[in-house]
Amino acid sequence: MNIHEGSLYWPVTMPIPLERKIVEIASHYEVIIVGGGMSGALSALALADKGLSVAVLDKRQMTTGSTMANTGLLQYSNDIMLHELIEQIGEKDAVRFYQLCLEAMGKLKKTAERLPLDPDFISRPSIYYASDDNDLKRIKKEYHILTHYGFPCDYWDEEDICNHLPFSKPGAIVTHGDAEVNPYKFVNGILQLVESMDVHLFEFTAVNDVTEENGLLRISTSSGEFQADKVLFTTGYETLPVGKRIGADINRSYVIVTEPLDVSPIWHENALIWETKRPYLYMRTTVDNRIIVGGLDEDKPQPPHSNESIMKRGANIKKQLETLFPELPIEIDYAYCATFGESLDNLPFIGEHPTKRNHYYLLGYGGNGTVYSMLGSKILAEIMTGKDHSDAHIVQLKRAATALNGGKSGIS
Ligand SMILES: Cc1cc2nc3c(=O)[nH]c(=O)nc-3n(C[C@H](O)[C@H](O)[C@H](O)COP(=O)(O)OP(=O)(O)OC[C@H]3O[C@@H](n4cnc5c(N)ncnc54)[C@H](O)[C@@H]3O)c2cc1C
Repeated sequence: MNIHEGSLYWPVTMPIPLERKIVEIASHYEVIIVGGGMSGALSALALADKGLSVAVLDKRQMTTGSTMANTGLLQYSNDIMLHELIEQIGEKDAVRFYQLCLEAMGKLKKTAERLPLDPDFISRPSIYYASDDNDLKRIKKEYHILTHYGFPCDYWDEEDICNHLPFSKPGAIVTHGDAEVNPYKFVNGILQLVESMDVHLFEFTAVNDVTEENGLLRISTSSGEFQADKVLFTTGYETLPVGKRIGADINRSYVIVTEPLDVSPIWHENALIWETKRPYLYMRTTVDNRIIVGGLDEDKPQPPHSNESIMKRGANIKKQLETLFPELPIEIDYAYCATFGESLDNLPFIGEHPTKRNHYYLLGYGGNGTVYSMLGSKILAEIMTGKDHSDAHIVQLKRAATALNGGKSGIS
């Protein structure tokens, strides 16, 4: 399955791929991670920081899965508003989940500072506007809940929005503590860092099956057999070799990247911008003065092969951008479509398989995938080293998604 089609922008920012060290398969690893994207790389770092022996296996060149299509908006707010999450899972867990996301933002920044290459991580505010008058009540309610629990944010009314941006909307929450990143450089930097910590990386190594014998896992792959105590699946939106994912919706989403242009006089602090409508339009700027805009999600998992249909959706996104920023001379330079997964209850799947011992998952489904990858890597590093994590139940595989999914658990 191709999980993206069209012309992607991030590879152009790092045209010479980093060379991986050539390593022999060790006789045994404490943890094998399947998938070398954002979730796999952050997990490898969290586990290597704990001193575990780790290998990462990927059937592709690492970082070229959905990580390469990720638009790099990093936000502590989620697709589900805090007040809605409170209704869904209760106040204590919902507020804690939002706190975990805010903490993950700080950890992403610290990780960026550790890397051997600059991943263009820049702190930015986010502007979350009400798409129409009907959503203004939700925005105001959310602002009150966020401030009540101490989350850093401001409220802008229509006049404030007009004073900071060239368009008018009924109201917006401005969150602080968010950031933009180049996810491709970020993950390549993490992989380079973990290699220096003796994590073994095996590209073009497809995992076909995992069996257990006397408490040891045998992982059969296209490059031979590996043995490990534990396996962690960070396989993103693709069908897993073992186990079927349920409790998630797999769609596709479109992105355009403009030619460089000067937005600074009219784009408040190069903020990340998104909205309450679903599917939502979201946008950011880049270090080389481009605008990245995504949206137009469709209820199909596979991106279209035809460049023509990608360009058609791209033109639609461009029109929406021009409505917001009519003064800008916008030209599309890159346009693509990618598979995108969301869980039914808007929370990621993180934890040990409910019935298969030593099989772990980190599936950061949702618009906030990178934040989920970070918070998941930290939770897993604790529970995989035998410690309890007091927040693990919020995102565990067997959870409320069960109820949303006709009684079936999130992963089988
Ligand atoms: C258009 C788009 C925009 C996005 N924008 C944002 C954003 O602005 N902010 C944000 O936080 N998130 C965003 N996301 C989400 C983000 O991309 C994902 O959450 C994140 O990249 C997932 O990383 P991952 O490591 O889980 O998956 P991937 O990067 O897909 O990595 C999974 C890896 O597993 C490998 N694999 C799969 N099966 C096997 C197997 N059997 N054997 C070996 N290897 C295997 C694949 O080859 C792949 O490299 C966006 C996603 C899309 C599609």
